Amino acid sequence: MHYVILDLEWNSAYSKTTHQFVNEIIEFGAVKVDSDFNEVGEFSRLIAPRVKKKLNGRVKQLTHLTNEDVADGGSFLSVASSFGSFVDGAVIMTWGTSDIHALIENYSFYTGSRRIPFLTAYCDLQEYCERAIDRYDEGNQIGLGRFAELIGVEFSEDEQHRATADAVLSLKILKKVMGNYPLEKCILKADCEAFYDRMLFKNHFITDLSSPDIDRSQMKFVCESCGKQAKRVKRWKLHNKSFSSDFYCKSCDERFTGRVSFKKRYDGVKVNKRIVAPRPQEAKKE
Ligand SMILES: [Zn+2]
Repeated sequence: MHYVILDLEWNSAYSKTTHQFVNEIIEFGAVKVDSDFNEVGEFSRLIAPRVKKKLNGRVKQLTHLTNEDVADGGSFLSVASSFGSFVDGAVIMTWGTSDIHALIENYSFYTGSRRIPFLTAYCDLQEYCERAIDRYDEGNQIGLGRFAELIGVEFSEDEQHRATADAVLSLKILKKVMGNYPLEKCILKADCEAFYDRMLFKNHFITDLSSPDIDRSQMKFVCESCGKQAKRVKRWKLHNKSFSSDFYCKSCDERFTGRVSFKKRYDGVKVNKRIVAPRPQEAKKE
């Protein structure tokens, strides 16, 4: 099995024809490795943007690319097609899912279909590497440069933010943390609609108490002192995307606030529960 570590650069543009913003991909950079993770090839191509020919200041600053550099590039579909031949059935890996989102967006824009033709299996390297060092946290993702620093992989800041350099750095990181967590667990089958549904799913907090996605049994709280179920003494209130209410334990004559949030994800609902003891001055209020 082969793997292709891919990194893209893009330029945000507004299309007057379709009245939408599109992140136009301007560079593909990738390294291909064999099953032992030895490098067997590199791919590096620029794309001439079509919607907006001038690069945004931030993109120029970050990538050191000029308008002239990209003007000489190929079209998105021709470069993507050459890249497809380079991939040749390998597992695609990217640092975080934003490159996959950009690919889906560009394919949708140019072909009207969200399908990425060369994608059959996918691995989010950011998730994999975070799991491998036991630092996986959906709400706090670690950027490529910071991750490299964290595990002591050297890199030159000047060379980063160009597609191939970022892909090479991702590979170095992967090789350093590999083996600490099974890679298969992070490889998704990607030649199916379910993959696109998963990628495009927008995680969100459920804020409607009557939603069928809310498991009411998760809204019961037990007293931290005696372990008995406490009685809810107030109506549920929505507070920073969590439901919050006050509880009373008869056995201990203690009050506390219980908070619970429900985050809807593609895989299901993630429940987060916590107990907040009332602050003394609050408890004293009439
Ligand atoms: Zn109690």
